[in-house]
Amino acid sequence: MITNYMKKVLVANRGEIAVRVIRSLKQMGIVAVAVYSEADRDALHVKNADEAYLLGPAPSNQSYLLGDKIIEIAKANNVDGIHPGYGFLSENAEFATNVTNADIEFIGPKPDSMRLMGDKLAAKETVSKYDIPMVPGTDSALVDIEEGIEVAKLIGFPILIKASAGGGGKGMRIVEKEEDFREQLKMAINEAKSAFGNGAVFIEKYITSPRHIEIQILADKHGNYIYLNERECSIQRRHQKVIEEAPSAIVTPEIRKKLGEAAVYVAKSCDYIGAGTVEFLMDEKLNFYFLEMNTRLQVEHPVTEYITGLDLVEEQIRVARGETLRFNQKDIALNGHSIELRVYAEDPENNFLPSIGTLETYVEPKGDNIRVDSGFEQGMEVPIYYDPMLSKLIVYGNDRIEAINTMLYAIRKYKIKGLKTTLDFGEFVMKHNAFVSGDFDTNFVKEYFTKEAIKENIQEESTVAALFAVKHYMKNQKKIIEPLHDHGAWCGLND
Ligand code: ADP
Ligand code: ADP
Ligand code: MG
Repeated sequence: MITNYMKKVLVANRGEIAVRVIRSLKQMGIVAVAVYSEADRDALHVKNADEAYLLGPAPSNQSYLLGDKIIEIAKANNVDGIHPGYGFLSENAEFATNVTNADIEFIGPKPDSMRLMGDKLAAKETVSKYDIPMVPGTDSALVDIEEGIEVAKLIGFPILIKASAGGGGKGMRIVEKEEDFREQLKMAINEAKSAFGNGAVFIEKYITSPRHIEIQILADKHGNYIYLNERECSIQRRHQKVIEEAPSAIVTPEIRKKLGEAAVYVAKSCDYIGAGTVEFLMDEKLNFYFLEMNTRLQVEHPVTEYITGLDLVEEQIRVARGETLRFNQKDIALNGHSIELRVYAEDPENNFLPSIGTLETYVEPKGDNIRVDSGFEQGMEVPIYYDPMLSKLIVYGNDRIEAINTMLYAIRKYKIKGLKTTLDFGEFVMKHNAFVSGDFDTNFVKEYFTKEAIKENIQEESTVAALFAVKHYMKNQKKIIEPLHDHGAWCGLND
């Protein structure tokens, strides 16, 4: 069913994700409306949009978090859909309700699904109807400290105290031993209150060497659900992802099917609509445990787009328009391998702390199988008010090794001067034996990464990188010479 509905969509976000959503809107012939703060007057998302409206001063609570103002702008300009991106208002059920009440389509799930999954405890309860393994822990908010200690002892230290409303890697505390529990709990509750406006915290067993594996799902308004394979996101700092890939180096077709089906159950449990992600932890024995569901487009969605050949923003819009999913589970492709590096304005040599400044030089790599989703241009200043992610560097290869090589090539071609970024860190990871062999977990950074390691890496960089560059160049040359349709002809070069 194709409807003509949705001719004009407002993107309630900024940075790379606003730019990326606007790209799909334009490809679909939809008028793209941007909103911006005073700090973002010259931003790329404003330039790329068909129309743009000022929200207010730079701080998020005076601009990108002003739901009512955004809805007002949408109404005044005949917008018929709002895409929230990720972060900001994307997981705010009240905003979604207000959008719907204003007769505008919210491009995302129903407010109730967001409410359930946005609260980790409510999510666990919702999912518990189905036979889905969960990390051992408490199933309600901790109120009594002594009772908390008893539970923690029963589960066994180390444990994790988690904020039910947490996100973006924030609101988690590892407690190694009983003596530390009281103090850590108090701090966790205070932090949760101030950061998320909700002091509810709970206990989870701390899985010591897990991998983070997540499933992308898609659901329409007619009860159809599919899964679009997994992404592995175990390379993290501060419990937040820096490098993601699809597929995972360790997931077999059997496990993929089990994970996918579990994810679909999670989505069904909250009556989900649109694109969403179900996150799992996986232990050494490949047992998996439900972690949470993110009810929005995920930062790392491009790696799934590369291996499935789909445009997830386009699918979100089709679903929001009321179209039926155009494919069944068996139609979902898994071709080749894709890796994403989040290019943060951070200094890896200084605990990944934000590194602000002006992009004196900013040149993106270009080429086959290289995609850069970015919100910046040379000469722009990186504002201190928002997430310090500059861009995402995404590559594709016929297999994992090819993808790693292409990533190394692209990192070398990416020129950023004026502030520190995670590019060198990305190179360190791509060259590390544990990553190359696929034998790693969420402790990768803690276990292997040091200031010295990155320096050594840079010193030997010139020779190794030159080799990769030559190889990549030769491959591209050969590709130009070979007929375009003969895909297989040049693949052999890498074998
Ligand atoms: P993803 O979950 O898509 O892999 P992140 O964990 O990095 O990516 O989160 C995406 C964005 O959403 C980031 O800008 C992060 O700061 C923000 N975010 C996620 N959850 C929350 C939350 N509960 N409160 C505040 N910000 C959040
Ligand atoms: P957020 O909402 O901040 O994304 P998650 O629950 O998804 O929070 O967890 C983020 C990351 O924290 C995971 O990818 C993992 O690295 C780590 N983590 C979360 N729960 C556990 C756990 N029980 N044991 C070990 N690590 C965990
Ligand atoms: Mg998460």
